[in-house]
Parts: sequence; structure tokens; C-alpha cells
Amino acid sequence: MARGKIVCCGLSTLEVTLMVLFVVMTAVSVGLISVMAVHWEDRLQEPEPTVNPTAGPHENPYLIGVGRADCTGPPGDVPLMGYANLEQTAAGIHTRLFSRAFIVDNGSKRVVFVTADIGMVSQRLRLEVLKELEVKYGNLYRQDNVILSGTHTHSGLGGYFQYTLFMITSKGYIKPSIKAIVNGIVKSIDIAHRSIKPGRIYMSKGELEESNLNRSPHSYLNNPAEERNKYKSNTDKQVTLLKFTDLDGDGMGMLSWFAVHAVSMNYTNQMVSSDNMGYASYLLEQEKNIGFLPGEGPFVAAFASSNLGDASPNIRGPFCANTGLPCDYLNSSCPIGGLKMCVALGPAGSDMFNNTKIIGENIFKRAKDLYGKARQEVRGPLHAAHQWVNMTDVTVQLNSTHTGRTCKPALGHSFAAGTTDGGGDLNFTQGAVEGDPFWDGIRDALLGAPSNETQDCHQPKPILFSTGEMTWPLPWHPSIVDVQIITIGPVAIVAIPGEMTTMSGRRIREAVKQELEAQGTFSNAEVVVAGLCNIYTHYITTYEEYQIQRYEGASTIYGPHTLSAYIQKFRGLAKAIAEDKEQELPKGPEPPFFKDSQLFSLLPAAAVDKKPINTTFGEVLERVDPEYTVRDKTFVTVEKYHNSTAHWDVVHTDASWETRFHWVKNGAESNATIEWHIPLSAQAGSYRIRHFGHYKQRKGFLETVIMAYEGVSDVFRVSKLK
Ligand SMILES: [Zn+2]
Repeated sequence: MARGKIVCCGLSTLEVTLMVLFVVMTAVSVGLISVMAVHWEDRLQEPEPTVNPTAGPHENPYLIGVGRADCTGPPGDVPLMGYANLEQTAAGIHTRLFSRAFIVDNGSKRVVFVTADIGMVSQRLRLEVLKELEVKYGNLYRQDNVILSGTHTHSGLGGYFQYTLFMITSKGYIKPSIKAIVNGIVKSIDIAHRSIKPGRIYMSKGELEESNLNRSPHSYLNNPAEERNKYKSNTDKQVTLLKFTDLDGDGMGMLSWFAVHAVSMNYTNQMVSSDNMGYASYLLEQEKNIGFLPGEGPFVAAFASSNLGDASPNIRGPFCANTGLPCDYLNSSCPIGGLKMCVALGPAGSDMFNNTKIIGENIFKRAKDLYGKARQEVRGPLHAAHQWVNMTDVTVQLNSTHTGRTCKPALGHSFAAGTTDGGGDLNFTQGAVEGDPFWDGIRDALLGAPSNETQDCHQPKPILFSTGEMTWPLPWHPSIVDVQIITIGPVAIVAIPGEMTTMSGRRIREAVKQELEAQGTFSNAEVVVAGLCNIYTHYITTYEEYQIQRYEGASTIYGPHTLSAYIQKFRGLAKAIAEDKEQELPKGPEPPFFKDSQLFSLLPAAAVDKKPINTTFGEVLERVDPEYTVRDKTFVTVEKYHNSTAHWDVVHTDASWETRFHWVKNGAESNATIEWHIPLSAQAGSYRIRHFGHYKQRKGFLETVIMAYEGVSDVFRVSKLK
């Protein structure tokens, strides 16, 4: 293996841009290219949805805008958001994260859907974005007509929450982290806003196999048989897609939904990554934006999350890593090694990069196919309905004689067990309907025992954290939650404030569809569940799934009637839309916006960066080999020398799938390694890798300054195998 290394600087903090160091590493094996058979099956039997069906071309096209902007943030030190593992802090970039925005206007109303490569949208994030939008655009982009959704990548940065539980799991409220996401989302809307022009929207649907697997089948099986019999799978296979074109029919963008967790990259990964959904975007955008680097170019392709609560991309399923035998079905634990040993594998086994690639490619290929076939024009009015709901206090009409109630938030014991996509570290298992005296004792001593009222309300959940009763230093969980629906013609986008399981999503879709169609204004409404929207409230299972208390049930924080309460609320929004009375909906109680001074950060303050003695920042520590050969194991560069112009052309950036930027901090010094996984398609020629960064230096006694540095590798040649 040949190694080149440009040094470095120490890295430090987040307030500052990160200090990057740099190394060129070669001889990284590309690995086998796995080919997966994907079975596609079109659903052509369904009637065409319409609102106001009319023949012939649509006389009044929509105004459409699309935009994309970077929201990566400082890829060092900040915990990655998703696995709740404090050890899993950012240490580099595999792929950059982007926010993608779509604006649709019909001359009188406007709706916006944004999906960002982040774990989830938090209430804090949404409130900050809406504040900025108000400053820039006044009353144009509002609470009711803007939906913000997260792709649920578990390899994006945390630190953008205002409730205590989430602040603890991401080392507090981290300004540079949330700033980057707010800026990225707002900028993607700015770009979409500026790009608005007349265009058309087409819808297409199809099924995608071998790309998701139910990770809590035992819970799913507790749903009524007659309900399960209506569906052929325990995960949703549907891909729903909107194609946006200008009036010439030229593609502007694509927005699709598919229900799978973006957790192909597992908890051992420390590089920022947009995971499988982001890779699907990357592939379609690269294909449409010819000649542009990743993250650039006008065509915007978004793969948004849906009812993925129990849908895992680890489609080989869970096995005991030590014995290879299946895990216990109810508890997902192993006879030896317990919970930690039970791990679900993706299509490529334990290679998380290839798992990401395969699942991402599957989704991309299906979407590309559906995009090409999208003929059914979406037309009709636009609607936007939004309410804030106090989710701790909703009375649910279960039938004509019985009511149920939602509860103050609480997490059950199985929450701490995690899932087969990434288990907890302690001796918790899934499916716990009884508490554990040991952990209950610790909890009571540290945090106080849950009240009887909360315990009763959450039955049969044994409460681990009674978060609704924990208010120091700030509330641990939200009470006020957004419910929101926007409609574009017959397409209704339901903004779910968390992760709905497969069956929960199906119930919501059915209820909203029924309500929209009941008034006769919609026929064959197409209801899309958009996941991880607006505020994070963990999971939403059905009442029956809740009884099993696997991870998803234990994480259904407002109790067993959570889903029923949401169905009631979303029905209310759908009814208002169908009657064109969404303006009359009560706004509901406004959520809190805590002052910055009330939020805390557990990250150490910024230090100055150091470099090894006798080196300078950006100095090359290790030389690259002068020549590499393109074959199935090969590598690297960012810039290629162009003979005719005598210029260096950038061929890859850190947004590229082929590059990996590792950044390992060692006290005040840091080392970075850059790998280029040279694709077989790379052109022969002379290449070099450059690195740009910043470091923090002391100036005088108290002051520090941020300095830029740059490192360049030796020039090396890439040639084709003869
Ligand atoms: Zn999740």
C-alpha cells in the first residue's frame, strides 16, 4: 500500500471551521461489486387519481421551483444523530449532506416540501428556519405551508434540539451544527424560490422489492389478521414519485418517498454520510446534471422518508454474530452475548459501504424507471393545513361508548435495548413488559420514580424514563406537536412528527384518504406519509403493536393511543382541506422557543490547533506513489491535469462517493486521511490531491485567530490496464 500524507493541523472546535488535515492514502481495495436482483412490479391496476378530472392538457400549469443546498456542518467532534451513541462522534466526511426544496404555486396558493439529509427535523430547527424565512419573505413561507422532513440518515450531525433528552444524546445544543442545517434548508428554499417557473407535475408509483425488512415482525403480527390480510407484506414496498418539468417537458426535479431506515451505515461509522437515501439522490442527480460535481447542477432529486418505523435496510435480517443462528424472535437477543450479539446484516453482509451502495442503487434504479414512465399529470388546487396539538392531553373516541387518552411522554425499558440495526449497551432487551428492579432502582435514585398516573396511562409499558415529568434544566420531551397536511391536486402529503411503523402509516393513509374523498372534492386521493417531519417524537406504533413493547412500542412516547390521537387530528386537517376551510382551523397552543441561554452545550470550548514539530500546516507527511493503475482495486485524486488548457480540473470533492475523508483527532493535533476509491471509469492522466482547511492559532496572550492553510499532494498518474 502506498500512502501519501499531507499534514495537518490540529483540529479543534466547532465554532470555527474545522481544521482539516490531510493525507492521501492509496491502495484501498474497492471490493467486489455486488449485483442484486431487484424485482419490480408495477401497480398499473389502480385507477388514476384526479381532482376535477378533465381531459386534455392542463391549461393552468403550476409555478414550480426546486433547490438544493449543503447542510453538512462541522464534521468533527459533534455526535452523529441516530444511534444515541456518545462515542460515535463525527470524524470526517464520506458524503456531504444536502437540503432539497420543492415549491409549488398555482397563482393563489403556495406549498413547500423540504427534505434534508439529517436524522430528523427537530422543533428547534423548524422554529429557527421559520424565523429566518419570515425575516426574508414576510408571510410567504409559513408554519402551515412549509413541511420540513428528514431522510433519517444516522450519520448526520446532532446538536440541533431544545429538549433535554436529545441535548444529552448529542452533547447539547451545538450552534455551528444547527446553523449549518438552518442555513442549508433556508438556502435550498431561496434557490427554489429564485428558480420558480411554469411547469408540470407528473405522478408515478411502483413497488420495490429486496430493499426493506420488518425489524419487529412480532409486533406487526399482533395487528388484527383481517387487517394484515389486506397487505401482502409486513413492510410497504411502494415508491411514490413526483416528476417536475418545465413547460418544454425538460426535467427540473424528482421527489419520491420510500419506507426504509437510512441506517445502512452502522454505529461504527464516524464519517458524515447521507446513507442509502442520500446515495440514491447522488446517483440520480449525477446522471441528470451532466458535467457537474456532486451537489451541483440544476436538477434536484430527493428521496424522502416515509413510514419507516419498523423498516430496516438490513434485509438479510438478524443473526447472532457469534453462532450464526437466528436471534430470539420476541427479544432479538442471543443465548450467548445477549442483545449486543444480535445484529441484522444488509445485502452485502458486514460491509456497510456496500450495503449503503446496494440499497441506494435499488432505490435509485426504481425511481429512475418510474420517473421515465411518469405520465399521469397532477393537477388541481393546492391546500395547506396545520395545527399545534398538545399530545399529552388528547381524548380519543375509540368507539361509541369508550374513550382513551394520550399520556405525558415516557420511554419504556425496551427503548434502551435499541434495535437489531444498532443495539443498546446495557442488559435491556426488546419486548419488556415488566420493569427491572435494578434499573428501576437506579432511575428512582437519579431521576425520581414515575407517577402512578403516568405508569397507568402507559400500560403495559414499564417506564424507564418518565420524560414528561422531567423538566430540569428544560423539559425532556415536547408536549406541543405539529400536525400538517399539504395537498397538490390529488396528492396529499401528510407530515408525520416522528417514525410511524408500516401499519401505522397504512392506517393514517387510509383515514386521510377517506376523509378527503368523503366530501366529493377529491376522488382517488393519493396519500403520502412523509416521515420525520417538523418535530421529533420518536416512534408511533399501532395500539396492538404497542402491547408487544419492542423498541418501537417502548418509544411510542404518548402512550398506547398515540396513533389513534394522530388519526383523529389528521382526519380533522383532511376534512378542513376537503371543505376548503383550513383557514378556520384553530392554531392550537404555540410550542416553546427556549432562549439560547437556557440551552446547554457539553462540548469543550475551542482550543488552538497544533502541528507536529518541524512541520507546517498543510505539509505533506507521506508521499503518494507516482503511479496507480485503474483496475478493480484502485485510487485517488481530486484534480486532474488538463493538457490542452494547462489547468487542473476538479474531478472529485469531498461530496463524492469515491472519496473518504477521515479526520482523527489526537489532542490538539489531528490527522486526516483521504482515500480516493478510483472508479474503473476514471480517465488516465496526471492527478493531484489538494486539501484546504483552517486552523486556530494563538495571537498574543488571549486572542486567537483562524488561519487558512492548504496542502497539495505530489502529482501522480492514473493509467488504464492494458
Ligand atoms: Zn428510526
